[in-house]
Amino acid sequence: NDKNLFLSRFPVSQVNRSLQAWDSADEYLINYIDEQGLINAQTKVAIFNDAFGALASNFCHSATEKPEVIAINDSYVSQQGALYNIEQNNLDDNNVKQLSSLDSLPSDIDIILYKIPKSKSLLIEQLIQIKKSVSDSCIFIAADRAKEIHSATLKVFEKYLGSTKTSLAVKKARLVFCQLDSLLINKQVHQSPFPTVWSLAHQSTNDSPSREFTISNHANVYAREKLDIGARYFIENLPHVAANAKVIDLGCGNGVIGLSVLANQPQAHVQFIDESVMAIASAQQNIQTNMPELINQCEFTLNDSLTDIEGGSVDLILCNPPFHQNTATTDHIAWQMFKDSHRVLKKGGELRIIGNQKLAYHIKLQRLFGNETLIASNNKFVTQSAIKR
Ligand code: SAM
Repeated sequence: NDKNLFLSRFPVSQVNRSLQAWDSADEYLINYIDEQGLINAQTKVAIFNDAFGALASNFCHSATEKPEVIAINDSYVSQQGALYNIEQNNLDDNNVKQLSSLDSLPSDIDIILYKIPKSKSLLIEQLIQIKKSVSDSCIFIAADRAKEIHSATLKVFEKYLGSTKTSLAVKKARLVFCQLDSLLINKQVHQSPFPTVWSLAHQSTNDSPSREFTISNHANVYAREKLDIGARYFIENLPHVAANAKVIDLGCGNGVIGLSVLANQPQAHVQFIDESVMAIASAQQNIQTNMPELINQCEFTLNDSLTDIEGGSVDLILCNPPFHQNTATTDHIAWQMFKDSHRVLKKGGELRIIGNQKLAYHIKLQRLFGNETLIASNNKFVTQSAIKR
């Protein structure tokens, strides 16, 4: 038909090209709204968590009959992926506006197409936001692979939105329909449990006194309930940092790694980088709360790994790499981060990483840097270092 699209995962250079940029839940959702005639040029559509633009690009086809679309995502990579796919298919996206997960939602949305995120916390946060923002007449349809929709998932929809039904499974995908007005009798508005806050005891490595930091975490941030055990081990094995060193906390999450660097070396410059809007906002908040006097030495950058960061410009990169993209387990992001680090480090600069023993990151470091040193290991984690020669 006239809607054949060619969609890529993003970034396109990733090693595992057999993974798809869309899933059967996207297809089911698009077929359903087409069959039911739910969308026309007057409709305002909100799309949540569209991984690589499979849903958004579907509404960029017709020249005249295009609905107004708002695409909400926490992931910078997903948003870049959507823009890339729209461009590759020569589509016109002047009807699509991208919003981040921390922007407020317009109240006049007619229909929400909701891809269920992997993180239950993000799901809860977004459902609370939806219930608070949109009118009761808004149509809400969620979609996911059937095996990801458990009775507990449906209870979350019931609790935060209203009465919930599911479709039959088609090609192993399922739709979830929620009626936003069903809580009329008991129209309670739930308070968001996010950001979560926990404290981090910092043992000083120099003469300064030990401190207790307050760490705040938006819903989609890694280790939002407590310090990750890998990160704890990494903090115990950070290198000595020289005054004025340029440091990058790559995949910073809530920023605990960069924060620990600054606690030991208040004269370092730290750039916090993550592809999650919520992560970057949390990292910035955590420096602002705990070290307001150092905020001008810090930069907070939403980015896909180290894209567009100047080569040969950085002394130290610290990284606890991710091992998932959406629902796919993959090491392509770690690979990209190590490769980018090699480019961005100055000669003599160091990449220091932490990983689960099983991930065998040392093989990648050896291949890219031609050297790697074991810094510390226990029965679960290993910290390694590689120097740019
Ligand atoms: N540094 C934090 C810590 O140690 O607790 C978080 C580490 S977590 C294992 C990995 C982080 O990498 C996540 O915050 C995730 O959002 C981020 N990430 C994933 N893909 C990324 C990408 N392409 N570019 C930048 N950051 C990314």
